[in-house]
Amino acid sequence: MIRLRRASQPVLLQNKTDDPSAKAVWIGGDHPIVVQSMTTTDTADADATLAQIYGLAMAGCEVVRVTCQDVRDAEGLKQIVRRSPVPIVADIHFDHRMALAALEAGVAKLRLNPGNIRDPHKTREVVSLAKERKTPIRIGVNLGSLAPDLEQKLGLTAEAMVASALRHVEILEELGHTEIIISLKAHDVATTVYAYRLMDTTLRSRGTPYALHLGITEAGLLRDGTVKSAVGLGILLWEGIGDTLRVSLAADPLEEVPVAWGILKSLGLREKGFEITACPSCGRAEIDVLDLGRSVEAIAREYTAPVKVAVMGCVVNGPGESKMADVGVAGGKGKGAIYRKGSLVGTYPEAELFTALRREIEGVILEQYPDFAHEVRQDHSIVGL
Ligand code: SF4
Repeated sequence: MIRLRRASQPVLLQNKTDDPSAKAVWIGGDHPIVVQSMTTTDTADADATLAQIYGLAMAGCEVVRVTCQDVRDAEGLKQIVRRSPVPIVADIHFDHRMALAALEAGVAKLRLNPGNIRDPHKTREVVSLAKERKTPIRIGVNLGSLAPDLEQKLGLTAEAMVASALRHVEILEELGHTEIIISLKAHDVATTVYAYRLMDTTLRSRGTPYALHLGITEAGLLRDGTVKSAVGLGILLWEGIGDTLRVSLAADPLEEVPVAWGILKSLGLREKGFEITACPSCGRAEIDVLDLGRSVEAIAREYTAPVKVAVMGCVVNGPGESKMADVGVAGGKGKGAIYRKGSLVGTYPEAELFTALRREIEGVILEQYPDFAHEVRQDHSIVGL
């Protein structure tokens, strides 16, 4: 299997505060692909927004975007930037005063299409301050908001998206600001994939490999949006395209983060938390696979160690699948067998199976993942229980 990561220009995201140890995140280059999300709270309500940001960060979100559309938001942003555990991106649309206020508040990045600020003097003012403060800018083109002339000429196409983005890129380049990230989001997989591929080729040929932020906009409700994002972003990531991603779901933003991680983990691009394999169950199952799988998920929520666990309904595939997992469990009549790397550890009555499985998983963390051993108490009971 060969998967080539496209070489891109790395940019550093860090909130500009008095604290030099504020969390810093690199996007692009050889750095791991970064997970992002966006708050749904009123930015002016800094406490509520920070509560959501902390929740997202706890779930594994590494960069959070917040909207900044009026003076009240800009005031909230000051506090948010100072107290956030992760870099903050300000989402700006047309109002250059909000861009200036967000930069003054110390955001780590702006999401802004400079061509949307119609007055060139105002654009220059914003870009100069961003450059001075070393604040990268993400150009975000969506299929639904193309430049009217390009839409008329090229239609609702990937070509029009790329041409729109390049216009904004050229404005920043002319003003000497090249800390750039680009996104090209459509609501469907085919247009999104084609747009990013085309942009990748175009950027390479012009010698400006800016980092790419992946996403499918308005992907949908939880289930359909997850499938669409996994397919579209998965194709691109597998081709080595993309440096950061946001899964956009019509759901609580906390739902977006595990989906993003799931995509990255399933492609072997990042490791975080358990990877649980479970058979779909069938007439041969001698144990409730769903119930057991959910129990493993409950244990998984308590850890960040990348433990691989296989849950099998019967012994047909159990031993084989367990070879590829750190811990495997296979159902039998009223009992279950536990394996470690395919070797049988023991057979336990169903009533004792969960406790034995938990013990085995804790043992794996202590022995194989020492960096995460602090999450298991000395008496081998899980912290927090
Ligand atoms: S592991 Fe056993 S129970 Fe699960 S799907 Fe395969 S045959 Fe069926």
